[in-house]
Amino acid sequence: MAADIEQENADVIVIGAGVAGLFAAVEAAEMDASVVLLESQPEIGGSSRLSGGYVTLCETELEPGSRDELLADLDEAHHHDSHFELSRVYTENSADTYLRLKDLGVEFIGTMHFSHMSKPWAHEPGGIGGGAELVLKLEKAAKRRGVKILASTRARRLVLNEQGRVTGVEVSQDGSINVLRARRAVVLTTGGFTRNPELIKEHGKAGAEKITPLTGPGSLGDGLLMGRDINAATTYLDIGVAPTGPVDPVMNAMSLVNYKGAILVNKNGQRFCRESDVYLDLSWAGLKQPETLMIQIYDAAIRRDYMQWKLAHVLGLCRETKAGTLEELGAALHASHGVDAQGLRRTVATYNRYVEAGRDPDFDRTHCVGTAGDLRPLLEPPFYAAVLVPGTTHFNGGLRVNRNMQVINAQGDIILGLYAAGEVTGGFHGAGYMSGSFLGSSLIFGRIAGKNAADEIARVV
Ligand SMILES: Cc1cc2nc3c(=O)[nH]c(=O)nc-3n(C[C@H](O)[C@H](O)[C@H](O)COP(=O)(O)OP(=O)(O)OC[C@H]3O[C@@H](n4cnc5c(N)ncnc54)[C@H](O)[C@@H]3O)c2cc1C
Repeated sequence: MAADIEQENADVIVIGAGVAGLFAAVEAAEMDASVVLLESQPEIGGSSRLSGGYVTLCETELEPGSRDELLADLDEAHHHDSHFELSRVYTENSADTYLRLKDLGVEFIGTMHFSHMSKPWAHEPGGIGGGAELVLKLEKAAKRRGVKILASTRARRLVLNEQGRVTGVEVSQDGSINVLRARRAVVLTTGGFTRNPELIKEHGKAGAEKITPLTGPGSLGDGLLMGRDINAATTYLDIGVAPTGPVDPVMNAMSLVNYKGAILVNKNGQRFCRESDVYLDLSWAGLKQPETLMIQIYDAAIRRDYMQWKLAHVLGLCRETKAGTLEELGAALHASHGVDAQGLRRTVATYNRYVEAGRDPDFDRTHCVGTAGDLRPLLEPPFYAAVLVPGTTHFNGGLRVNRNMQVINAQGDIILGLYAAGEVTGGFHGAGYMSGSFLGSSLIFGRIAGKNAADEIARVV
C-alpha cells in the first residue's frame, strides 16, 4: 500500500472532491498537469452532490442580465459587507464558466428567481438534476483527462519546504500514513465545517449548536484546520456559522414550500418572519422561536405547485400532517407538538385577509420569494403542515484567498504553492448570502484555482 500511494506524486494535488475540487482538477489536467484528487469519503461529491444544484450566473443564454447588475445584487445580498474584489472576479468569470460547463456536458434547463435577485440568476441543471448532475459531469470530465481520484484517502497535514512553500500532503489511507509530493501546487477544496461541533462552538453565536446539518459527511473543517496549522488567515468565520433553511431532521430533507406561498408559524401558531426572505434570515428567526419550531402551513393548491418544482424532490420530502380543514390541522398539530390550534386558525384567517387586501402590515410580504410569484390565500383543502427546525446547507467563513485563489497568511502574504476554493474559503459571501452562489463560487473559483495551480510551474523556484 505504501509503495502504491508513493507513486501518486503529481504536479497538482487537489484535496476534496466536491464541485470545487473536481473543477480545479479538470482545469489543471487540461493544462497538461498530472493531477491527483483526494477524497476522504468512500464516495466523492460532498455537499455538492446533495445540493439543489442552482448556480447563480450572469450573461448566459438563459439569463443575459449583465455582470454589473449581478454585481450590484451580490453586494446587496452580502449586506455590503464582503471581500468585494471576489464578487468582481465572480461576475467577470460567470459567462465563461457557463460555457465551460456546457462544454463539459452540463445542460441548464431554466432559471429561478430567489431573494436579493433583480433577475432570475439561479441556473437549474437538467439531466439527473441537482448538484448530483454537476458532480457526475465533472467526474466524467476529470477521468477523461486522466485525473487520478483516490477515495477514502484523507489529507491530514500540509507539508512545507524550508522556504515555506507547500510541497506536499500527508494523507491517511486504510490506516497507513504517507506523504504525497506536489511538484507544482496543492489546492484545498475540502468544503465547510458544518459537521464539526468544536468549530461551531468556537465560532457560532448562541444557539448555533442547535443547527441541524444537511451537508456531506466530510464537512469536518479539515481544510480550515490544515490551513490554520500553517498560519493561513481566516475570515468571516464568526459571522458565517448560520442556519440556512427549514429542515426535517428525521428525513434529512429541507422544505422551501414557503417560496410557493406557504406561511411559517411557530408553536403559538403565529407567523414570525417574512416568508419570502432569504432562507438564512428565516432560519435565524426560527432559532429564536419556542423549541426552534418553524412550521410550514399550506393548502392543496400551493402543495401542487411545489411538487412540480424539481428542487422539492432534489431537497427530499419532509414529513407532512394533512387534514380536511384548518381546524383539524390545528388539532393534529396540537396533539403532536402542542401547537396553539386557535392561534393557527386566527393566523391563517388574518393572512388570507392580507392577501385579498394586497397588504401584509405584519411582515410586509409582497411576493412568494423575493420579488417574484403572486401571493395566494390558503383556501383549498386538504391543508398541510410540515414541522421543521433550522438546519444548514453551508457556513460562510473560511480561509482567506486573493483573486488568484492563493491562500493568504496571517501577515497578509501569499502562502506559496497553496490555493483554495469553495466552502473552505471565506470572504466572498461576507455577512450575507445569495442563493446559487455557493455552487457558483465553488465552480468559478475552483476553476481559477485549478488553472493557477497548474500554471505554478512558471513560478517554482
Ligand atoms: C441540501 C443542500 C442544498 C444546497 N443547495 C444549493 C444550491 O442549490 N445552490 C448553491 O449554490 N449551494 C447549495 N448548497 C451549498 C453547496 O452545495 C455547497 O456550499 C458547495 O457544494 C460546496 O462545494 P465544495 O466543493 O466547496 O465542498 P463539498 O461539495 O462539500 O466537497 C468537499 C469534499 O472534500 C472532502 N474532504 C473533506 N475533508 C477532506 C480531507 N481531509 N481529505 C480529503 N477530502 C476531504 C469532503 O468529503 C467532500 O467530498 C446546498 C447544500 C446542501 C447540503
